[in-house]
Amino acid sequence: MKVKGIALFSGGLDSSLAFKVIEEQGIDVLGITFETPFFGAAKARAAAGRIGLPLTVLDITEEHLQMLHAPRYGYGKNMNPCIDCHTLMLKIAGRRMEEEGADFVFTGEVLGQRPMSQGKQSLAVVAKNAGYPDRIIRPLSARLLPETAPEREGKVDRARLLDIQGRGRKQQMEMAVHYGITSYPAPAGGCLLTDPVFAKRLRDLFDRHPDHSVRDIELLKVGRHFRINEATKAVVGRNAMDNDSIERLAVPDDALIRIAEVPGPTVLIPGGGDEETRLLAARLCARYSDAPRDQAVVAHCLRSGIGTSLSVLALLPEETARLII
Ligand code: SF4
Repeated sequence: MKVKGIALFSGGLDSSLAFKVIEEQGIDVLGITFETPFFGAAKARAAAGRIGLPLTVLDITEEHLQMLHAPRYGYGKNMNPCIDCHTLMLKIAGRRMEEEGADFVFTGEVLGQRPMSQGKQSLAVVAKNAGYPDRIIRPLSARLLPETAPEREGKVDRARLLDIQGRGRKQQMEMAVHYGITSYPAPAGGCLLTDPVFAKRLRDLFDRHPDHSVRDIELLKVGRHFRINEATKAVVGRNAMDNDSIERLAVPDDALIRIAEVPGPTVLIPGGGDEETRLLAARLCARYSDAPRDQAVVAHCLRSGIGTSLSVLALLPEETARLII
């Protein structure tokens, strides 16, 4: 029976090279990649198309969020729980391996490329915690790592795997030329959990709104965010595109506020807030609108189909700065 491998595929150069190294051993390869609100699959889809890798895209939002709330190995510099995230991805890829009757999972990881998550010990811990300590191959660094079952069983020729390590890219660039891979995205990037501004907003959401929805996470990607009080926040559009996104993401229970007759932001209070918080949000709305600073303006507030008008003065810059998340 033909040997089969599952590629955990990010779309970066290293995962494309790992695919080439395995494929040229005559092994059948199926790719798998993931989507959550924090990262998408566009890069992987495009790269898989270029190198001829059949790719399955799975939305793992639910499992990923569950892990993200309490990662066993904690977070990196921001809200990125990379060790737990890799473990989860390998676990799901391992499940796919079993479903497909495949022999192993492989990744484009390179030993020592990221000191925290790609050290020898981390790679071993992740494979073990994923439940497949002996079935995960890193073709680009395999000869520097312990032999795995498919290598022992003769399904994968260890001699044709590589011994790359460290952050340098020279060897990978040469391999890209050898395999005719001429177009590939820049390494790293693309995960919002590593973005400091997004991470701050996400931490605030997790701490203050543990019952949040996926929609609440989508809102974190839009506009400026303000904490009005422990229970209430406001999202303020920065431009027309933000305002459109805010309106698209709004649900009937939210409050939507705009200043009458002058250009300015749309402000959204998730869950609607109370009278006092709506008043403060309306003042925020006036602060970022073209309304005069020294006289009261009318703000329109819409909630559950009911409109009200509020007369407000723009919030002062120092008051605004105190509320920003
Ligand atoms: S950078 Fe993001 S997607 Fe990548 S392992 Fe870390 S948390 Fe997961």
